[in-house]
Parts: sequence; C-alpha cells; structure tokens
Amino acid sequence: MKAEIIAVGTELLLGQIVNTNAQFLSQELAALGVDVYFQTVVGDNAGRLRQAIEVARSRADLLVFTGGLGPTQDDLTKDVLAAYLNKPLVLHQPSMDKIEQLFSSRGTHMVESNRRQALMIEGSTPLANSAGLAVGIGLSEDGTHYMLLPGPPREMRPMMEGPGKAWIQHITGQTEPLFSRQLKFAGIGESNLEAALLDLIDGQTDPTIAPYAKEGEVAVRVSTKAPTEAEAAMKIDATVDKIKERVGEFLYAQEDIPLEEAVVRLLRASRRKLASAESCTGGLFAEYITSIPGSSGEYSGGVVTYTNEMKHKMLGIPMEQLEGEGAPGAISESTAALMAERILQIADTDFGVSLTGVAGPSESEGKPVGLVYFAVAERGKETRVFTSKFSGSREIIRVRAVKAALYRLWQ
Ligand code: ATP
Ligand code: MG
Repeated sequence: MKAEIIAVGTELLLGQIVNTNAQFLSQELAALGVDVYFQTVVGDNAGRLRQAIEVARSRADLLVFTGGLGPTQDDLTKDVLAAYLNKPLVLHQPSMDKIEQLFSSRGTHMVESNRRQALMIEGSTPLANSAGLAVGIGLSEDGTHYMLLPGPPREMRPMMEGPGKAWIQHITGQTEPLFSRQLKFAGIGESNLEAALLDLIDGQTDPTIAPYAKEGEVAVRVSTKAPTEAEAAMKIDATVDKIKERVGEFLYAQEDIPLEEAVVRLLRASRRKLASAESCTGGLFAEYITSIPGSSGEYSGGVVTYTNEMKHKMLGIPMEQLEGEGAPGAISESTAALMAERILQIADTDFGVSLTGVAGPSESEGKPVGLVYFAVAERGKETRVFTSKFSGSREIIRVRAVKAALYRLWQ
C-alpha cells in the first residue's frame, strides 16, 4: 500500500505553523507497514486542493488528509473530496447529538456552521473524535482509499491511534494486530545509533526496527504482528536483546518516557535525592526535572549562579578560583566539580549536579561556543567531571547539555 499525506492549511504554506502532523502520520503509517511515498501541503483553496487530490490519486492508493474539518468557511476538505467523488454529504447523527449536547450543556446556542462538523461523505466510515467535535472519515472508492483527519494535533493524534489505525488495518487486510515497543536512548546520537544497528535494521523484517528522533531524543521502535500480546512480547524481547548487545549501555527505557523521568524513577527506587547548580543552562536542568510530576521527593532544588559573584556568594566558590591571573576560571573542570560538591553539601542531598559552559553565540573566557563542563558529585564518592563540546544554536546547546548531565546521572 502506497500512501500520500496531504496536509491542508494556508498557515502551513505561510510558515506560521510547522507541519508536525505529517511527521506524526508518517511514523504511524510506517509502523502499520504502509509506505509513505509523498507528503503534500496545500492551502485552504478548493481548486488547488482538488488538483492535489488528482495528483495524489495517480501515485498513491491511500490519501491521508489532515486539516480543514472544522466548522468555518475555510474548512473545505470534506466538501472538495465529496464534490470530486460526486457524492453527497450526509449527517452523522451520533456526532450531531454530541455537538448539540455540548452546546446545551454550555447553555449557548449552536450556530448552523457547527453542523458541518457532523457531516460525512455518503458511504464512508466515521472515525470518532475523542478530543473534539469534527468527525473523521474513512472512505474507499474505485480502488483508492481516503482518510480525513482534523488539523489540531490533540484531536488528530488520538483519532489516528484509535479508529484510524483500526480502519487502516481493515483496508490493508491486516488480521493480526500490530504491537510495538519504544526503546529510548541517551548519550548516543541518532546517526551513531543508526550506524550501530544498520545491518539489523536492513536485514530484519519481523520484528521491524525503525529508528527515529523525537523532540531531541533518540528512539527505536520495534514492531511485530502477533495473535496475542504475550507472543509479540517474546518476539520483541529477542530483538531487543540483539540491540542491547550493541548499544545496551545507552538504552535507558523500554517505553516512551523522557530521560529526566528515567532519572527521577531511578532516584526514587534508590531513595536518593538530587540538587543542582547551574550556570550556562540558566535553570533548564531544574525545569526538566521538575516537569516530572512528583519529583519533589527526589529533587530538593537548585541554584542558578550565572555570574562569578553569585558563584562565590551562593556556593562559596573562592574568587581566586573564578578569576584573575592563572585562575582556572568559571568555565573549567575544577569549577564544575566545586559547584556540584558545594550544592550537595548545602542541600544535604545524595547527588549534586552542576553545569558550566559557553552556550553562545560568542565565546567566553577564551573558550569556544558549545564547550560545557558538568559534574556529578555523589555522597561518599569521588566527583565525576565531564567535558562536552556541543554544536548547534544557543537553545540546542543548552538542551543537549542538560540531557548529557541527565545521562551521566542515569549512568
Ligand atoms: P478546527 O476545527 O480547529 O478548525 P480543522 O480540522 O479545520 O480544525 P485546521 O483549521 O486546518 O483544522 O487547523 C486548525 C489548527 O490545527 C491550526 O491552526 C493548527 O494549529 C493545527 N494544525 C493544522 N494542521 C496542522 C499540521 N499539519 N501540523 C500541525 N498542526 C496543524
Ligand atoms: Mg479549521
């Protein structure tokens, strides 16, 4: 089955929003064994949308649309496809009931345009919207399959993962359900991970191994079809063992959790606490850790000591360490170590972590952009200091530095 994704929306063409739906849908379709050959973006314009449908029909069996299912006049996807296929729009009563109920519970009056969200193309399968009002559509006509999904990611994703997936499995004749497991890696880049697994990825068809990058993290999805979850788990386990032989030291979770969550869980399991002292990351480490609900049991707190004066006042780092002739400087291994050790003492925790470096855009203390020293002090153990040279923008350098420090903690 060859698929084309058609993202509909003038905002996409104007560059006002990023086409994250296409990325998500490509990943979902790949996991379902559907090959995506093209991704198209077209504005909210009936004529050009019709052209896009014509072109896509000539080169794909499955057209997956996202966007333009809403109530307003610029939401055209259903109307244009219905006209193209010469089919009427009909009311999907359960969706209509849901819309009416919502308006009456709010005590407001439903406007006529809201009815549009409950319209389907005659002969299509409704795809329930668990997070919004517009009903999705699955339709097969003359050997081509059409799937219409809403634009807002928070509606589109659950629709694709639930009824959308079931519908695709139906049209592709997949009888056994597909099971997959996400493996999350840290401390290794996407290309190195892929290189280490290349022959496995290429040579293995069941389970399939698909690496992908997700919001600054590296992950691999292992998928297989099997009659039961237990049988799938056995097949997946065997493949995971092969992956572990090569890159096991970087594998921090066999489920889709961020690295900071894995660190918090590890601390929780060993009943230990952490505190942080940050310079170049300006509190981003604290932000990541505290984004995990319930992390107050594991994270005592931290300081942002951006200037030398604050490193001295808050952490008691001697000024001679930080500046002056022959001083190691604020951006140095020894300052990173001192920061981590001092915050551990002050907060009275089991671990202290520190970050000091050059986030850019220009160098500092004669040290290049992207150079970051970070340290992990552990009660009763020798402090570990690490040096990394990251590339990218200021923002990316800061995120990578935090992730690298988290990785060392997880180790
Ligand atoms: P609505 O009922 O909100 O009008 P809709 O199905 O008509 O939904 P659109 O009007 O095309 O969808 O888009 C609504 C919003 O969804 C956009 O403003 C944007 O925030 C988001 N969105 C749409 N398409 C995409 C996409 N391809 N990738 C990411 N976000 C998108
Ligand atoms: Mg809309």
